[in-house]
Amino acid sequence: MKDGTLERRIRKEGFTGELRRGAPMSEITSLRIGGSADLILYPRAVEDLQIVIPLCRAQGMGYLLLGNGTNLLASDRGVREPLIHLSDGFGEIRRKGTTVMAGAGAGLPQLLRFCAANDLSGLEALAGIPGTVGGGIRMNAGSWGVEIGNLVSSLLVMDRAGGIRWVKGEEIEFGYRGTTLPPDEIILQGEFSLQKGDGLEITKRMEEFLRKKKETQPLFQPSAGSIFKNPPGIPAGKLIEEVGLKGMRRGDAMVSPLHANFIVNVGTARSRDVLGLIECIRERVYHEKGTRLELEVQIIGEPEVAE
Ligand SMILES: Cc1cc2nc3c(=O)[nH]c(=O)nc-3n(C[C@H](O)[C@H](O)[C@H](O)COP(=O)(O)OP(=O)(O)OC[C@H]3O[C@@H](n4cnc5c(N)ncnc54)[C@H](O)[C@@H]3O)c2cc1C
Repeated sequence: MKDGTLERRIRKEGFTGELRRGAPMSEITSLRIGGSADLILYPRAVEDLQIVIPLCRAQGMGYLLLGNGTNLLASDRGVREPLIHLSDGFGEIRRKGTTVMAGAGAGLPQLLRFCAANDLSGLEALAGIPGTVGGGIRMNAGSWGVEIGNLVSSLLVMDRAGGIRWVKGEEIEFGYRGTTLPPDEIILQGEFSLQKGDGLEITKRMEEFLRKKKETQPLFQPSAGSIFKNPPGIPAGKLIEEVGLKGMRRGDAMVSPLHANFIVNVGTARSRDVLGLIECIRERVYHEKGTRLELEVQIIGEPEVAE
């Protein structure tokens, strides 16, 4: 990838977006961790994606969609496959009656503000989730019992050959922090079916959800949100707290004293520090509670090698 073949070929084919080489993932992910990404592509239009995706395929290369990087742990050794970030040209939010159409690159906070300004209710429990519409739908982001997938009426997606199609909400299964959409399909736009409400009331509810989150989660420290999925019947954070791991550190990675399911970067933590903590938490929780914790955060990039 470092030889620049893909770059040259996409430019030759007329790619109009931006390219960034060697960007540190520590500047891109909310955990502020990770070595350099060989190539980040910022397509401006669907046509740009239709150039990139088939070329990646022709070169036998994988690619990774990058939203706001708020659910990712990037390797200290960097990321070799191209990252594709939908921003300019994919951020439009519109409405038609009580249906809202939002581009995958729009921020969830921006979508929530749009809904409040347009007296549309349904998504306010997602206040405080810092991802994009695309990342939120891919992860089926949720909070206070509301999952984004519950409100998706249809999605515009691109497949691995560059073909575009609409998929109805009921054709997709939205599970706990994931969907049945094939992993290499790109979400271009989401349509949300909402209810008429009162803008002021909606804003009040959003503020209340956010206030409760600020009290219980380290929202102002670098993190990737919840590290583990909640096992049935008991929150992962409670299990981690009960086995006494709140405040535990590996280098500058620390189990948050405020919420044990968050690992925060208190300085210049490395991915290997976070992986060490994850391992330790899993072992202790399994040993003392008999529960195997499953990761919610996604690990990307070159695998770590033993020191
Ligand atoms: C402080 C904090 C609080 C959080 N609170 C919550 C919470 O309450 N509930 C919750 O569910 N999550 C929470 N999260 C986690 C995170 O914000 C969500 O998972 C969010 O949906 C990720 O969106 P993103 O744009 O950052 O995606 P990224 O982290 O960039 O990517 C996540 C996944 O989505 C894929 N993806 C991104 N864009 C697209 C696209 N257009 N098409 C296809 N796939 C795509 C990526 O390839 C990757 O697999 C929190 C995170 C932080 C840092």
